[in-house]
Amino acid sequence: MNSSIQKFDVFIIGAGPAGSIAAAKLVQKGFCVKVVERQVFPRFVIGESLLPRCNELLSEANMLEAIEKANFQFKGGVAFQDTEHFEIFHFNNNLGEPFNGSFQVKREQFDHELIKDAESKGADVEFESEVIAYDPDLNQVTVKAKDGQIKIYQTKKVIDASGYGRVLPRLLNLDAKPSLALRRATFCRVEGDVRPTDGTDGYIYVDIHGNNDAWVWNIPFNDGITSVGIVCTEEYFQSFNMAEAEFWDHIISTNPSTQKRYASAHKINEVGFLSGYSAAVKKLYGDNFVLVGNASEFLDPVFSSGVTLALESGSVAADLTAKELQGKTVDWQTDYEDYMMRGINVFREFVETWYNGDLQTVFFAGNKEEKIKQAITSVLSGYVWNKDNFFVKKSPHVVSALAQIIQLR
Ligand code: FAD
Repeated sequence: MNSSIQKFDVFIIGAGPAGSIAAAKLVQKGFCVKVVERQVFPRFVIGESLLPRCNELLSEANMLEAIEKANFQFKGGVAFQDTEHFEIFHFNNNLGEPFNGSFQVKREQFDHELIKDAESKGADVEFESEVIAYDPDLNQVTVKAKDGQIKIYQTKKVIDASGYGRVLPRLLNLDAKPSLALRRATFCRVEGDVRPTDGTDGYIYVDIHGNNDAWVWNIPFNDGITSVGIVCTEEYFQSFNMAEAEFWDHIISTNPSTQKRYASAHKINEVGFLSGYSAAVKKLYGDNFVLVGNASEFLDPVFSSGVTLALESGSVAADLTAKELQGKTVDWQTDYEDYMMRGINVFREFVETWYNGDLQTVFFAGNKEEKIKQAITSVLSGYVWNKDNFFVKKSPHVVSALAQIIQLR
């Protein structure tokens, strides 16, 4: 039984990037913050390629220094290729965004660095404890600790940063049907791949397989290990009638570019998979709570937007929470939900047109203007709120319109 109710200004569920940045920002503004995380860190999670906007958000939260010290692989851009086409977007050729580089990170290390930094700034972090219930009227959170003890927390705001745990969407029936098709990712880490020698060895390479049937991510770390994942629809995977590891071997050895890159590489862990990861919610906030990161919307891995959106939402939610706790009026609909959905929807258009082929038409058009390339680079850098970018301003139909014009030329 619980002996007493503990009080915190803000209670954060989950110590991933969304929870860590929210915690760090709030403690630096003088609030008393509790973070409860059900796992032991370091822990593995998928999502290893970051965008320049992440660096800006971490810098604003005074967390970039901790990440820079950890010496992750520098990421200068993104390359896309199929058997006939190749296009590369260098982050430093954008619409003039403030940050133009990022990192490839093993998330077990990256997430650990972030939460340690939040803790060193003053957050009270408890690992191996799970949030099991939430009362929105009393604004009380129930936690089951490692030793089985049940604890009750009274708080002014709950920030749900529970990622794939989706704690409040489940407990409050907030889940909505995602708009994207059911897809799966099949992945592992390898050693000994042949990396590009033209200075783009730190870039993420995205290989399109077959007739846009699947795509492969190649994410290089600076210790010689590379993360390699295959993304396709559930139907495509099932059509092979193979186990995950066999499917991974088959695609990697039959795709011409991955065949070359991994000819003498060897796996360093078992092939894992995730299926049906896209998620959506009916509402991003309530009177006393707000959903951030993957506990809210998650689209698709193709443009590596997940951690950027997790940091963006964690950061904005923290700023608005601070304002509210200081007694100021906050319009959560306009300043949080509408704001986040504008950026998410720019990525949504990119994801949808990636899978229907229109975006690839635009990416691979040899005659596109430099301004278009820079505008694409800005989106691929995570700058999806910059209204000077017509992919942002004219979302959601600009990509398909552009593809049509290119095809008519
Ligand atoms: P998480 O990082 O998932 O952290 C949530 C934490 O909450 C976890 O540590 C969990 O243990 C904890 N938790 C859950 N339930 C409870 C509970 N009941 N009580 C207490 N704690 C709890 N993103 C990128 O930016 N780049 C990529 O290259 C990329 N690749 C991806 C590939 C695939 C196949 C997929 C599916 C996603 C990819 N993503 C990528 C997305 C990325 O994984 C997520 O967007 C990101 O991890 C979200 O961060 P978060 O802080 O919201 O949640």
